[in-house]
Amino acid sequence: MLRAHMVGRQLRDRGIGNQAVLEVMGEMPRERFVPPEHVDLAYGDGALPIPWGQSISQPYMVALMTALLEPRPGMLVLEIGTGTGYQAAVLARLGCRVISVERHPALAGAARERLAELGLGDTVRIEVGDGSLGRPEDAPFDGIVVTAAAPRVPPALVAQLADGGRLVVPVGPERRQELRLVVRSGDAVAESRHGSCVFVPLIGAGGFAERHGPGGRFRRRHV
Ligand code: SAH
Repeated sequence: MLRAHMVGRQLRDRGIGNQAVLEVMGEMPRERFVPPEHVDLAYGDGALPIPWGQSISQPYMVALMTALLEPRPGMLVLEIGTGTGYQAAVLARLGCRVISVERHPALAGAARERLAELGLGDTVRIEVGDGSLGRPEDAPFDGIVVTAAAPRVPPALVAQLADGGRLVVPVGPERRQELRLVVRSGDAVAESRHGSCVFVPLIGAGGFAERHGPGGRFRRRHV
């Protein structure tokens, strides 16, 4: 009921036209992915905090990024930033084979368990580590989705796209980014922009430097 309302008002009414994406998000139990204290907001119109200062994206943003990937059954997709595993689960239900990289081992472990409970343990492979430079050992990918903010379109990721492959990545400074789509055709790449968004930072060699201590991101947020 709440889920159907979310699909209608937040996704379809705002222009998400990919029927398969709408159907899969209409069946995915988002309440299984959000922390227990926020289950009442599972179908609300926003991102929600998850452990380790991270977040599960707003449903509309998941739908938009997924639709931009133009998912097809059998497609190999790399996700950078597993978080709760919700985005990976949506892609898996759409028939994609998913490799998802998460830098926090505890988040990766919890996502692995959750996806196994949903019967998606064999469709999604979760790896722990810095995914900001992609996974050359598993490339090329038909799709790459970065669910954390990158300072620029990471060239290493463009290089790991298959011919016709699509990369969706939020690009910009830490406070506000713009969603970019990069499509590779042979040696050419076409880039388009798809509105503003706010993601937690991509931390690593191809992303932002980790900041600690006074003046750092985490300290500032708590004062
Ligand atoms: N897609 C997730 C939400 C992602 S939040 C979901 O559906 O729930 C962004 C995630 O990116 C966080 O969990 C963060 O730890 C992770 N992250 C940030 N930098 C990373 C990197 N370099 N490699 C892998 N994961 C990273």
